[in-house]
Amino acid sequence: PVDLDASATTPVSRRVLERMMPYFREEYGNPSSPYEAGERAKTAISEARASVASFLGCESREIVFTSGGTESNQAAVRSALRLKPERRTIVLSAIEHSSILGLAPEFESSGYRVRRIDPRADGRIAAADVAEAVDSDTALVAVMWVNNETGAIAPVAEIAGIAHRKDALFHCDGVAAVGKVPVDLSSVGIDSLSLSAHKIYGPKGVGALFVRRTRTFHPLIPGAQERKRRGGTENVPGIVGLGEASRESMEFLASGTDALKRLRDRLERGVLEIFPDARRNGPAEEDARAPHMTNILFPGMSGEKILWSLGKEGIRASMGSACSAGSVEPSHVLLSMGLSRAEALSSLRFSLGRHLTEAEIDRTIAVFGQMAVTIGRRVS
Ligand code: PMP
Repeated sequence: PVDLDASATTPVSRRVLERMMPYFREEYGNPSSPYEAGERAKTAISEARASVASFLGCESREIVFTSGGTESNQAAVRSALRLKPERRTIVLSAIEHSSILGLAPEFESSGYRVRRIDPRADGRIAAADVAEAVDSDTALVAVMWVNNETGAIAPVAEIAGIAHRKDALFHCDGVAAVGKVPVDLSSVGIDSLSLSAHKIYGPKGVGALFVRRTRTFHPLIPGAQERKRRGGTENVPGIVGLGEASRESMEFLASGTDALKRLRDRLERGVLEIFPDARRNGPAEEDARAPHMTNILFPGMSGEKILWSLGKEGIRASMGSACSAGSVEPSHVLLSMGLSRAEALSSLRFSLGRHLTEAEIDRTIAVFGQMAVTIGRRVS
């Protein structure tokens, strides 16, 4: 198969799997046990924590292991609100993942005012729009670093400054950013950041939450583990896997993302040549978009049918996020950028993984070429 859906999930890399394996059987100790097997599991977790911290440019004690991006996001948002109980406004971007946006109705019914910030037409959240929405009643600002449908990068450093000037907290969903763009928390004033292992060639069901040491954290799941920040016996193999995935991602980023961009551009060029009225949804500037993703609108065509035709040829892509797959609802991200329902339903996301080859891109372009011929025949 040709996997152009790496933002939905990635396979566990061989290196990560090998690191994890001993912790399922030989090294199955409970990190809380007071004997050597427990100690070894505990050591493995602290090594993984150090790897994640060095990947993100933070301290080990600022990392809490969780069950994934969804839990990290929800823990961060709920903790932030408890830190500022007198404030009643939450500022969210309208393009957040459902694990954050889905909480809004609950907060609204408990008396919060939720202000949703639409992106500009190119999918970017503008710092000026955030500044306009944040005031002295704002408890929390949540804007994702990289959008998982368009690849648009948010000006997170500026947004952190805006939030802090009003003494609000800034949470950032980093799930689509880590491993794709440089994330250095020592130079950006984010208060909390979430990540998920299965988007960076680690296992599903494990993730991390960075919480800046200067911020108090109220756990979502109270308990003794993770320095009382996340209860429950640790997912030792998963955490070890996330640690290794972080080291591998660092190496991948250090070697540059130029190859990924070249493949992405090749795919865009090829598809746009075949469908001259197609266009890209997302920022035009290179420094405003992640290297691994492109979102293309095929006017007048059904995205679902294109996906099906690609699928028959073993090519995987997606409409909006996988999390809302199964429904034919148009993407909330594309709608908030000003696309019509029909346009959103004619748009597809292609997200490129590390191991994609030029031959696979060319095969995809060839399949699109065939599709155009078939459509032409049907029209004439
Ligand atoms: N945030 C973003 C931007 C995502 O793409 C995802 C995964 N679709 C999540 C959060 C949720 O992460 P997880 O699957 O680990 O719960």
